[in-house]
Amino acid sequence: MTPPAKTLRQILVKIQENERLRRPSLAVFDLDSTLFDVGPRLEKILMDFADLPESQKKFPDQVPVFKNIKIEKKDWGIKDALIRAGLDGHHPEFQDSVREFWRRTFFSNEYLEYDVPYPGAVEYVKTIADAGAEIAYLTGRDVHRMGPGSKTVLEKWGFPVNDRARLELKPQREIEDAGFKTNWFLNLPQSHYGSIWFFENEPVNINHMIEEAAHMAPPVEIVFFDSTHSRRADPPEDIPRIMHFLLEDDEDN
Ligand SMILES: [Mg+2]
Repeated sequence: MTPPAKTLRQILVKIQENERLRRPSLAVFDLDSTLFDVGPRLEKILMDFADLPESQKKFPDQVPVFKNIKIEKKDWGIKDALIRAGLDGHHPEFQDSVREFWRRTFFSNEYLEYDVPYPGAVEYVKTIADAGAEIAYLTGRDVHRMGPGSKTVLEKWGFPVNDRARLELKPQREIEDAGFKTNWFLNLPQSHYGSIWFFENEPVNINHMIEEAAHMAPPVEIVFFDSTHSRRADPPEDIPRIMHFLLEDDEDN
């Protein structure tokens, strides 16, 4: 397996080479759990749930446990953290209530500000944009619930957002992420780009895309961002895998 920093450097070199040959490059990034660690958003959601007077009144046994809850790197949603805290599904009313609160808040503009970029993410996107690559942030977030917040948070952290670094959101929340993303790629002009890369953490989206990707011109090169995912599928073994965006990483140089 190629070390992550090496994969990232090879992509940068290829973009520079494309520029010299006047061939455009396109780098496409998923947001949740690819550029952004959503762990702090999840922790804030749990703390806010615990702070609600209604929660404290209805769930006096569960709520005090919340102050010890920590989201870990591989957690998917809030379930793992709740189980670790001993809140493991024997109280359906509590489970439903916290899940409903999570659903309302996680997919909302208001809570996106708690997301934090993964190490090197801002610098890497800026570096390849400066080298000439077009950027797309291709996300399963939908325009209505999360559009304005997504743009604000990208800009807050210094990610480029402009006519060469576009934010691509789902027009409706009901559309499935995998189909939305694959179709987005299929609608790109064929044979326009010298290289296209797709950075994504969700194996379901990668697997949905991979057959089509191979037949596009040029073939889309998929990079698996190994953070956390839904566990509904395994990532392909034979694609590059990274877990940060640091061009220089002492451990893997
Ligand atoms: Mg994601």
